[in-house]
Amino acid sequence: MRKQILIVGAGFAGMWAALSAARLADKNDSQAIDITVIAPQPELRVRPRFYENNVETLVSPLMPLFDITGVKFLHGTVSTIHSDTRSVSWQDAEGKTHQHRYDRLILASGSHLNRSFVPGVQAHAFDLDQLESAAELEKHLHSLADKPESEARNTVVVCGGGFTGIEMAMELPGRLRDILGSNAKTRVVVVERGAQPGARYSEELRNVIVSASNELGVEWMVNAEVESVDAGGVTLKDGRSITSSTVIWTVGVQASDLTTQINAPRDRQGRLHVNANLQVEGHEEIYATGDVACAATDDKGNHALMTCQHAILLGKFAGNNAAASLLNVEPSPYRQEMYVTCLDLGAWGAVYTEGWDQQVKLTREEAKKLKVSIVSELIYPPKAERAAAFEMADPYAPFV
Ligand SMILES: Cc1cc2nc3c(=O)[nH]c(=O)nc-3n(C[C@H](O)[C@H](O)[C@H](O)COP(=O)(O)OP(=O)(O)OC[C@H]3O[C@@H](n4cnc5c(N)ncnc54)[C@H](O)[C@@H]3O)c2cc1C
Repeated sequence: MRKQILIVGAGFAGMWAALSAARLADKNDSQAIDITVIAPQPELRVRPRFYENNVETLVSPLMPLFDITGVKFLHGTVSTIHSDTRSVSWQDAEGKTHQHRYDRLILASGSHLNRSFVPGVQAHAFDLDQLESAAELEKHLHSLADKPESEARNTVVVCGGGFTGIEMAMELPGRLRDILGSNAKTRVVVVERGAQPGARYSEELRNVIVSASNELGVEWMVNAEVESVDAGGVTLKDGRSITSSTVIWTVGVQASDLTTQINAPRDRQGRLHVNANLQVEGHEEIYATGDVACAATDDKGNHALMTCQHAILLGKFAGNNAAASLLNVEPSPYRQEMYVTCLDLGAWGAVYTEGWDQQVKLTREEAKKLKVSIVSELIYPPKAERAAAFEMADPYAPFV
């Protein structure tokens, strides 16, 4: 019987896992392995750009690439993992349930924002976590132009001052000017639990974030926790409130719920603990990758974060190792010593850091050029050209 590698998800990790498994099978002249991806869409959705305008264009088709590399695609959603019988149940676009067996399962179903832990967020806040919700936010921002002038209309509150919240907030003064006109008295407020803006980052990076915020007029409310959100805006735990008709929630990203169906240890974000070959603890036939994997990046105690930077390489190693285990090839232990960040700071420019201690290496225009090349070229799928795609899918191919 042909061996089956089944990959759940066609994001950064799933796409690269499929290409990398196909590359290793091709390299070993193996025609006996089927590599199948199941996902709701045969497209890569470029989540890191969801704070931008024209969100619906931020997708890249995957079928040409899968066709040319021999990867099969099933259009649907996995609902149940049966690890005892090595199969999954999945629903197609018409809602019909099917089963698919696997010899190796690669879980690459990503992450989502948990909007349920603060009252009112579900009903009244926007987010930019998925294509549909980011498109809804964009539509809402444009609709502000049709509303009468008011404090609520002119104020946007961004809840959470992590990377996603910062990139969104820094983009907003320019976006609001374009929508409401340059005479409108607009206000962008970041609500942050930490004691200072960018509290969780290095001092060097924090200073850049503060300068850019000051120059762009983005306000920070620090030591501030959201008590509730309603149609009128945000109420904080200390009793303060902000009147706003646009509240954007960015806090509380969690690994896909499919992780709960595997009986194995998970971290606080719900990610499955994996060994160096990216196999889930206690399940050597299941690999976790991208945002669902809690993987050590080095021997110094650092772990992959929920970023594309990690998802892309984790995907390549997971695909390679799943195929290696069926081909009697030695696995390649995952290593990713280099960690960089490149944060868009709107009209101010951007900031680029290197190392886990976030040393600032580039700022303003220079960093912005790098940011544009990363998010509009580097993280996109390779061209649908078999040899080039396989070359890039090698886990040891040069990357950032
Ligand atoms: C607004 C925003 C900004 C970001 N900015 C940055 C940044 O600047 N730099 C950076 O490195 N990272 C950034 N990230 C994080 C980055 O986008 C994620 O780490 C990355 O997308 C993770 O890749 P992944 O393949 O694990 O998951 P995803 O890209 O989320 O892909 C998951 C895939 O699984 C599919 N799927 C989910 N459930 C199922 C199911 N039940 N059955 C079948 N398929 C399923 C999905 O449809 C999708 O195809 C940002 C994220 C967001 C939301």
